[in-house]
Amino acid sequence: MSEEHFKHVIAHAKEYGFVFPSSEIYDGLAAVYDYGQNGVELKKNIRDYWWKSMVQLNENIVGLDAAIFMSPSVWKTSGHVDGFNDPMIDNKDSKKRYRADVLLEEHQEKYRKKIQKEIAKASKRFGDDFDLDQFLATNPNVLRNQNKIDHISNEMREGLEQNDLERIRQLIIDEGIACPISGSKNWTEVRQFNLMYSTQMSATDGESEIYLRPETAQGIFVNYLNVQKTGRMRLPFGIAQTGKAFRNEIVARQFIMRMKEFEQMEMQFFVAPGDEMKWYEHWKAQRLQWHLNLGIDPERYRYHDHTKLAHYANAAVDIEYEFPFGFKEVEGIHSRTDFDLGQHQESTGKKIQYFDSERNESYVPYVVETSIGLDRMFLVLLSNSLKTEEVEGGTRTVLSLPPALAPFQCAILPLVKKDGLPEMARKIMDDLKFDFSCYYEEKDSIGKRYRRQDAIGTPVCITVDHESLENNDVTVRFRDSMEQKRVKIEELSTIVSIEVSMKELLKNL
Ligand code: ATP
Repeated sequence: MSEEHFKHVIAHAKEYGFVFPSSEIYDGLAAVYDYGQNGVELKKNIRDYWWKSMVQLNENIVGLDAAIFMSPSVWKTSGHVDGFNDPMIDNKDSKKRYRADVLLEEHQEKYRKKIQKEIAKASKRFGDDFDLDQFLATNPNVLRNQNKIDHISNEMREGLEQNDLERIRQLIIDEGIACPISGSKNWTEVRQFNLMYSTQMSATDGESEIYLRPETAQGIFVNYLNVQKTGRMRLPFGIAQTGKAFRNEIVARQFIMRMKEFEQMEMQFFVAPGDEMKWYEHWKAQRLQWHLNLGIDPERYRYHDHTKLAHYANAAVDIEYEFPFGFKEVEGIHSRTDFDLGQHQESTGKKIQYFDSERNESYVPYVVETSIGLDRMFLVLLSNSLKTEEVEGGTRTVLSLPPALAPFQCAILPLVKKDGLPEMARKIMDDLKFDFSCYYEEKDSIGKRYRRQDAIGTPVCITVDHESLENNDVTVRFRDSMEQKRVKIEELSTIVSIEVSMKELLKNL
């Protein structure tokens, strides 16, 4: 997948009403996006697929919808007020702000590119005799560049671990990194920048700073007792929630990959201490299966185990997808131990425990979390589904979305706008619209209308023509195969439901 493809995805998303830049008529707002008429449907269907697979198919998982605003004490206790930071640095000439770690990572990339160039040169020179491993181990230019890369990684890791920000700044200066805008090396000191947005809760009390939640998980933790007691939940059980989260990402890029306002779909699974690794493995496998079940090429997915764990975790893995700009995290599975509930228990003095009648003891449950970004999943599906295909008489752009997730499940198209065809098409629509999301269109040639439906991913087109009036049948056209067949009107409901069935998708999990 190329950068070119990614540009196509972004342009297509805009042109076909999936994603618009926020406040576009005011020149937009950086890293904030709106979902258009087709985007909102696709997003809702992804959310439904997640919700049904997590809540509806698991007796021991229930839902929750906690508020975005929470007591500020929650974020103090969770560690976000003190520790949810990115290191940033400003260039004094351009006045531009950068993430210090990103500047360094991009600089490492330059060394990597130099190594790639050396390899390309040598492999051309040596032809079939070229031995890559030997070249990497012995070529002085490669070794020098690799040493630079390793040195930056080590310094950066140690500097961040020890919160030694001067060391990070020194590294930027030693490496001669210049501001991409001003070209100058005139840097401020490095400072930690908290990613949480805050606002005032009350108009009268100047002290009442309140945060916009940076993750949905804490809403689940603070409701653990409420749900466990009122739902009479027995361990192990889970609480699932979808909703907006906000992060003041300094470097927001790559379209809806990294936004300031985004949506998470999270599930916290509460287990007995000692059982967490078993459940971690369970959810790690289950969650990848959820992705692969959508028919996405398994080669594009991989696990990335965290070697350096957050202070509260005893195991963590990312599910990564190969975007046009490389493998990137789409979902995280984290074994969070009893850290969050334990902290809230300590901070509030309320007993957040579970009485285990089998073990005859009370304890703070352990937690295994699955956390996926809905917007990133949306981008996975768009990047993976958008194709340009050669067809008779030219090319077509098709969005081969999993049929159950497509914004519209069928389109109903009268061949011409007269002779009673629109009336008949409307009648079909009035029957199907209770079960399916249907698109009605009568403008333009049928070929053009098929292309438009292909471009938004509609799996089935139903065309009403003059014969339909006599024979009570219609042409059904399938998006991926472009196969067309004649069917009776009373068969339509069955045909569409087989094609777009969420049930079949869920049964395969
Ligand atoms: P990253 O390392 O990419 O910043 P993260 O490790 O901070 O992500 P988590 O805190 O684990 O992310 O959040 C869980 C999920 O939420 C991520 O896997 C991702 O899909 C999504 N997510 C996180 N930050 C953003 C963002 N700024 N925009 C869109 N989605 C996001």
